[in-house]
Amino acid sequence: FKKNKMEYNPVVFEKLEEVNAAVTVPLLAFLAAGDHLLIVDSVYHPTRHFADTMLKRLGVEVEYYAPHIGAGIASLIKPNTKVVFTESPGSNTYEVQDIPAIAKAAHAANAIVMMDNTWATPLYFKPLDHGVDISIHAATKYPAGHSDVLLGTVSANETYWKQLYEGFCMLGCCSGPDDIYQVLRGLRTMGVRLEHHRQSALDIAGWLETQPGVAQVLHPALESHPDHALWKRDFCGSSGIFSIVLDGGGQKAQHAFLDALKIFGLGYSWGGYESLAVPVFLGDRTVAKGSYAGPLIRLQIGLEDVEDLKADILRGLAAAAAAG
Ligand SMILES: *Cc1c(COP(=O)(O)O)cnc(C)c1O
Repeated sequence: FKKNKMEYNPVVFEKLEEVNAAVTVPLLAFLAAGDHLLIVDSVYHPTRHFADTMLKRLGVEVEYYAPHIGAGIASLIKPNTKVVFTESPGSNTYEVQDIPAIAKAAHAANAIVMMDNTWATPLYFKPLDHGVDISIHAATKYPAGHSDVLLGTVSANETYWKQLYEGFCMLGCCSGPDDIYQVLRGLRTMGVRLEHHRQSALDIAGWLETQPGVAQVLHPALESHPDHALWKRDFCGSSGIFSIVLDGGGQKAQHAFLDALKIFGLGYSWGGYESLAVPVFLGDRTVAKGSYAGPLIRLQIGLEDVEDLKADILRGLAAAAAAG
């Protein structure tokens, strides 16, 4: 956006967005007209867009639920509920879902539980061990790790594997061998890269909590996070992406913060070697709008030196304070 001198505008993102086929294939493989689909409101925006456009057009009834619903999901399940779609922590705001409780309620009604586990990767959370039937990952992120490949993966338990695989074959999604090679190569170093992302992000997130101009840090591995206990119960690590809430200032402060950054690039993807920042837009939410003291900025912490990144963030905070 900086390079092209474009203004941040959610409508532009709306036009450019693509959805990981790892999300669309399982949904299309199991849903039919007349089915009810429950999706967490803090879901990755392109998943919502796919549900609201193509799935609705195909006659699927789409309903969004609050990320903290837990066992309470039972009250939303109807005789035609076919899929409960989860993503934990949620995109941009990082609410942690009680996956085992949701899976128990969904299974009691014979619904399929799908989870987008991109944030944690299978190294820090294993969805099938917590009751999920179909596990989805954007391999574009940490598995690839170098911001140069688009690839997704879907795994299923024995019950749902056959139908998932059939759907995948029918939809004709073929990945290029070179992309697959890049991701297989990325997997060899993912463990050490992720550990570095984890430590740097946690260091920066904790430090940000003490900085003037920051109202809140949305990172589930911080003790201050409202879902910290749930995260600690189920996850064995945290990744390198989280958000901060500026202490007031509105969009002007948000843009000033982003424009002042020299090391962080502006970029919508994440999980690669370089640090990136984006403004967070929550206007599409219906039940998990949240109440924040100021604008949100999402930070993806790369593999650079932590002190350099902190100095860059301080430039952003000073610019936001001056603009506010
Ligand atoms: C990035 C992302 C995806 C999709 O990834 P692409 O491979 O870039 O299409 C899916 N889910 C989540 C949570 C993501 O962050």
